Amino acid sequence: MDPRHTRLLRQLPKVDDILRLPALQEAVAGLPRSRAVEVIRRVLAARRREILRQPPEMLPPQLEPAVLEQEMAQALLAAARPALRRVINATGVIIHTNLGRSCLAEAALEQILVLGRHYSTLEYDLAAGRRGSRQAHLEGLLCELTGAEAALVVNNNAAAVFLCLSALAKDREVIISRGQLVEIGGSFRMPDVMAMSGARLVEVGTTNKTYLTDYERAITSQTAMLLKVHPSNFRIRGFTREVPLAELSALGRRYGLWVMEDLGSGCLVNLARFGLEPEPTVQEAVAAGADLVTVSGDKLLGGPQAGIILGRREAVQHLRTHPLLRALRPDKLTLAGLEATLRLYFDEARAFQEIPTLAMIARPLPELAARARRLRRAVQRRLGERLVVELVETSARVGGGSLPEEALPSVALALTSPHLSPEELEARLRRAEPPVVGRLERDRLLLDMRTLGEGDLPLLVQALEQATADLPSSCAASETPE
Ligand SMILES: *Cc1c(COP(=O)(O)O)cnc(C)c1O
Repeated sequence: MDPRHTRLLRQLPKVDDILRLPALQEAVAGLPRSRAVEVIRRVLAARRREILRQPPEMLPPQLEPAVLEQEMAQALLAAARPALRRVINATGVIIHTNLGRSCLAEAALEQILVLGRHYSTLEYDLAAGRRGSRQAHLEGLLCELTGAEAALVVNNNAAAVFLCLSALAKDREVIISRGQLVEIGGSFRMPDVMAMSGARLVEVGTTNKTYLTDYERAITSQTAMLLKVHPSNFRIRGFTREVPLAELSALGRRYGLWVMEDLGSGCLVNLARFGLEPEPTVQEAVAAGADLVTVSGDKLLGGPQAGIILGRREAVQHLRTHPLLRALRPDKLTLAGLEATLRLYFDEARAFQEIPTLAMIARPLPELAARARRLRRAVQRRLGERLVVELVETSARVGGGSLPEEALPSVALALTSPHLSPEELEARLRRAEPPVVGRLERDRLLLDMRTLGEGDLPLLVQALEQATADLPSSCAASETPE
């Protein structure tokens, strides 16, 4: 080995000395001793490899202890915190699948806490004193809210669709419009799901136009189901035609076929008053006569991840006895959160206040503007001129494959810095505590007010302070030569 390598390697501190560094005490205290030692060894080993990789003539004469210390602190803090972390959603996309879709109502969180902490009636019938069904708790509630005869809850809507197709159309044909053969975010592709379930896909109509007669002509002795799929994050505009669910249901009844709609977002309330395109509600789909309607629990419904199947008693009965149901069953925390969320819908005004997804859609523009002004004042007070903060009008989105293109008017803070590119600022905010995810638009970083939660404002200021801590707080000072 080259002596220049050896010299630098010798400068690496010993584990015990690192553990004693005053600057690292807080980070070290966050972990059991043995774990802290492991993390330090790992960083040292990486450093050693890095030194040896470099040609000797490229090596610096000295290690910089401050840089190593900083690296150690970061590695220790990262090891102490959970991998799955909260973030502040400043993207303006309300149902953001990458950021966990819906935030839960307090009532749902309280029920999850109780059910998680204690034993429960999950599969116990208190009246009879014997085994009960986990599906019994929510069925009545779901039927009351939607008008369905029967209901079932599974892990997510993809599982719901898969179960329905497997139980009712395996080895038989399912007729679907070409305009609805969509891929929905997160690789849910209707043709693939159908193939997995064993159902055979029969495409009818064209991409833009499908008529009732297209379905009718495709019916054979092998047909099991007529399927309608909400195209979700995809729109065909202009010269278009789809068959309404009620007409499809009547056709299905005439031929003795199952009729199902994968509705996706699971909206239980009318959102048209917020200027949004009318989204078919679950109640409307059930009333239109479908045998089965499937929806997600964590999109517009605003609950935990779940798949909800609603429909006629006979159709749902086939699902109840299917062996797949056991593999797709929801856990008790999901059921607890979903039940509490659904109960809020009995009082619609309360639902709009307490279910965050609905509250974010309903929040009036002046309230968002007031919030933006408050935040701008706080940022200017605390960060001086490290950032240039402007208030701008922008568009938030519902997201999550529901009303995807629909713009909700919103207000954002537009940030720029004389010292950082917008991309660098955006990256620094993602690394702050708590991490903040914003949106880059026309060379500015936008922080949309519509998707902020209660209590996010001070944390946002804290994250901005962290992200800009090394910048001069006055532009004039940075331009004056030392
Ligand atoms: C979102 C969506 C799905 C997938 O639902 P998950 O709950 O994410 O499994 C399926 N179909 C439609 C129409 C959707 O909008």
